[in-house]
Amino acid sequence: MSHKIVTRFAPSPTGHLHIGGVRTALFSYLYARQNKGTFILRIEDTDKERSKKEYEDSILASFEWLGLNYDELHRQSENTEKYKVYLHKLVDEGKAYISKEEKKEEGDRDSVIRFKNPNKDVTFNDHVLGQITVDTTDLGDFIIAKDFDNPIFHFANVVDDHEMNVTHIIRGQEHASNTPRQILLWEALSLEIPEYAHIPLILAEDKTKMSKRAGALNVFEYKEMGYLPEAILNFMSLIGWNPGGEQEIFSMTELVEKFSIDRIQKSPGVFNMIKLDWINKEYLKKMPYENQEEYMIKFIPENFTKKSQYTSEKLHSIVPIVMERISKGCEITEMAEAGELTYLFENPNINKDILLSQIKKQLKDTDNVGLETKTKEILNKIIELLTNLDENSWENEMIKTTLWDYATDAGRGIVLWPMRYALSGLEKSPDPFILSQIFGKNETISRIKKAIETLN
Ligand code: GLU
Repeated sequence: MSHKIVTRFAPSPTGHLHIGGVRTALFSYLYARQNKGTFILRIEDTDKERSKKEYEDSILASFEWLGLNYDELHRQSENTEKYKVYLHKLVDEGKAYISKEEKKEEGDRDSVIRFKNPNKDVTFNDHVLGQITVDTTDLGDFIIAKDFDNPIFHFANVVDDHEMNVTHIIRGQEHASNTPRQILLWEALSLEIPEYAHIPLILAEDKTKMSKRAGALNVFEYKEMGYLPEAILNFMSLIGWNPGGEQEIFSMTELVEKFSIDRIQKSPGVFNMIKLDWINKEYLKKMPYENQEEYMIKFIPENFTKKSQYTSEKLHSIVPIVMERISKGCEITEMAEAGELTYLFENPNINKDILLSQIKKQLKDTDNVGLETKTKEILNKIIELLTNLDENSWENEMIKTTLWDYATDAGRGIVLWPMRYALSGLEKSPDPFILSQIFGKNETISRIKKAIETLN
């Protein structure tokens, strides 16, 4: 092809950028980048009542956050003069006409501009859907503008695609039914018709229509939940496009290289949240430590800063144990709200029965007094061993080495379980060595002492 490849994404600013729109934009973007072409963002704001500046701003901000750079930005509201020229052309040539309309309601217009439908079969070769032939008779003489200053969507869309030299129209399948009508306009204006690729619908996991619960949300709602832009783009690229092979994690560079219109499938794609979470986690794992820390902090509730043992060193040290448990940031907030992170920042409440529960299982014949005495003895021994470990060597592996022989002799379950519980107050938590490292020598010993105090 002699033309430079030009693609565009053409959202109407009547809402925020939706996750489905991200995929349409991405495919257009990838195709342009792959072919060293131009990617245009065109705000289709011909509908003056429904278009809002705040949505345009939001769409632009979403593009920025996603890192989808466009080469040109246009607004239909700035192109009114152009549409006028083409409208006059069609009317002058007798291909459109000003039609007197019956006023049905107060405020109705008494005239509009209608296209004179030649009532013919229209055929186009869609890159995804294949060859499609439609008899356009049913469309009648459809409206293309309210008046010369107010074209409607179909007309403005065609004029813009022509004026902006768009070569490939990649858009959602819901627009496939608009194409015959638009082709009639291309033909009437004697313009070269671009290539079409109508990409498949996105369905929920259970193959029903997408709902909010199934993930039909806007980009910022995803951002707020802690999804990373790279993860969203990677995930969306795989809905309705099949890269071939097993690989599922693709960098933007790889996507630009591998993307192919011919591998876009016809049948609906499925939005699988579990897969999105998995991909997000993969990207979180790749993040440098400092970025993980910054990311984590954003999701820890404000009121945590007031907790007695909340320090920036503490935050720094809990990054791995928090991050390994989540696939998106909002889960940190959920854990915090469920009380699962509180122990990291303040002394836990120790329940004597739970503290004794493991020993009780192992020393079945011992009475409660005996169990308490035994537990005290164990915890005191741990304190004794840890006291001898130098603060400079206070690190996970060294702590483990310090306690290992004793734990092995006495029984790991009855030594390490009560220690871990004494540190966290939770039946499930990271291992006691990691916790000790996080808390530091003083706090570790003080927490174990507090647990001992609950015993008689
Ligand atoms: N403005 C249309 C929409 O918001 C896009 C039309 C097109 O891509 O041709 O869906």
